[in-house]
Order: sequence, then structure tokens, then C-alpha cells
Amino acid sequence: MTKRIGFTTSLPVEVLYAAGQIPIDLNNIFLTQDSSQHIHDAELKGFPRSLCSWIKGNFSAALSSQLDEVIGVVQGDCSNSSSLLEMIAEEQIAIWRFSFPPERDYAALDKEIAKLEEHFGVSRKQTMEAKAWLDAIRLKLTKLDKLTYADRKVCGRDNHLWLVNSSDFRGDPGRFEKELDDFLYQAEQSAPLPTRIRLGYVGVPPIFRNLYDSISELGGDVIFNEVQRQFAMPYLCRDIVEQYLKYTYPYSVLCRLKDIREQIEVRSLDAMIGYTQAFCHLQIDNLLLKKHIDLPYLNLEGELPEKLDSRTILRLESFFEVHS
Ligand code: SF4
Repeated sequence: MTKRIGFTTSLPVEVLYAAGQIPIDLNNIFLTQDSSQHIHDAELKGFPRSLCSWIKGNFSAALSSQLDEVIGVVQGDCSNSSSLLEMIAEEQIAIWRFSFPPERDYAALDKEIAKLEEHFGVSRKQTMEAKAWLDAIRLKLTKLDKLTYADRKVCGRDNHLWLVNSSDFRGDPGRFEKELDDFLYQAEQSAPLPTRIRLGYVGVPPIFRNLYDSISELGGDVIFNEVQRQFAMPYLCRDIVEQYLKYTYPYSVLCRLKDIREQIEVRSLDAMIGYTQAFCHLQIDNLLLKKHIDLPYLNLEGELPEKLDSRTILRLESFFEVHS
């Protein structure tokens, strides 16, 4: 029987597809459903006001999505994931823990993926077959990314949306690929976008509803979405363990910095936006990113799933004025 499997951040989704299950990234569900209501519902269950909204949103999204199981990434993502999983288990939903080994070690990650395969009853060969299928789509996403930074035919918002949704391929890779093909065809026919300040975006995906559109209205465009690009597994390694070792997000901030610096060069970026989520431990990593990224750097903090407030718009405006 096909099961609906929620998860808290990108993981080897190949295993779930190899097992014939439907993977569902809870973050994407949270933002596309009634997000404010989800946060409210979690607070009614006792989640504190001073807790990251994504955690509360993921909890309520898990409860409202008819899931059979939730996989939590308890190492290499969020310091709250373990507790979130316990709360989900309390609601009679099965849970599974997945860890990205902090030492970024091949054997340890291989073992972790093998445990996941055993749990879902698939062999490595089946996982690799699913990987070949998904990699063909990922190759098209690298094309979309190039259309963003080289040809300038895809804007930052669309780049963000396609890459961020590749964590679960919206639960239906066949349909995702068809829609991606249509989008790429249209993009290739379009005229290049006007020249603007070439921005990078580092940090977790934004909770703001209109960040990319506001940036565009104010004269910039995001042509590098750091974490979203990582979700799309751009390296296309032949081996699945290698692929998830090269994936920078779960490991140290220094791994991320190396990738960011390379992309600053490749994409000729003018400035960087660092996004942090209120009450998130990754705010500490952001201090290091800001210190070691050699570009004008504007830090934005979001808390709730809403439009940008006027203060943030003013900050963006003055940042662009100074650096245009
Ligand atoms: S934004 Fe930070 S605190 Fe919130 S879920 Fe993501 S990693 Fe966790």
C-alpha cells in the first residue's frame, strides 16, 4: 500500500520513491496551506510563542496531511527536530529518525541510508534506480539555475520555487518534470530580464510571502539561492552516498562557505542577503557567513508567514541605493 511519508528537511528521498511511497516535505505543505492557522493550532497545543514558526508549522502540517509516518532529520538540520518528532509521535503518527553524520563521513552516512532502505524494504539497487530517475529531473533544474544566472531568463522567485520544491518533487516526480519542461520551454523563449543588482541569498528559505517580488520591485534580483540550490542536489554524483556528502546544508558552516564563495565567482554577485528565522539556532551560523563573505551583506530576519513589513522594505531600499 502506498504510504504518505512526511519529512522535516531534505533527505535521501530516492529511498522513499524506490519504495513506492509518497514523500511530503512538511515545510512546503506548511507554506502552501493556512500557515497562520497552523502556527495558532500548534500554540494551542502548548508550543511556545518563542519557538521558530517552521517547527510549529511543520507540527500542524503533519497532523493535517493524513500521513502514515514522519521522518525527522535529527542530526544536520534543526536542533528542535527531536522534540518535534516526539510531539508528532504523541499524536499516534509513526516516526523515524534520520541523521546526517556531523563528521561528514562516508561509512557513517552509508550506514544511515542503508538503515532507511531496510526500514522501507528496498535494496541499494532500487534506490539507485530511483536516483537515476530523479537525477534526470535535477539535471533540468541545473539548466533552470543557469537560465537564472547566465541567460537571465528566470527570475529569483521562480528559481527559488522550483529548487525548493525539489526536496520532494511535490510528491509526484512525473508531474513535476512535465511542468518543469513546460516552464523551461517558456523561459527559453522569453527575453532576458533587465539588468539589476545581482544578489545572492543565503540561509534557510524565507517565511516572508513576497520577499522575491519586493526585491525585484526595488531593483534587485536573486540569482543565487544557496540552500534551495542544495536541495536540488546540483552535483549529480553517481553514488548516492557521495551525493549526500557533497550536499552542504547538513554539515559545518565552512562547507557552506566554500560553496557560497565558488558561486559568488561563477555568478558575479554584487551583494548578499542573509536570511535568518526568528528563534533559530542558525542565526549563529549567519554571524560567520556575514563575517567571511566578502560582499555587502544585508541580514533580514523573518518570524511569521506574512508580507514584508515597512521597516524591512526600507532597509532593502537603502541597501540597494548604496550598492547599485
Ligand atoms: S528555521 Fe531554524 S529553528 Fe526553524 S525549523 Fe529551520 S533550522 Fe529549525
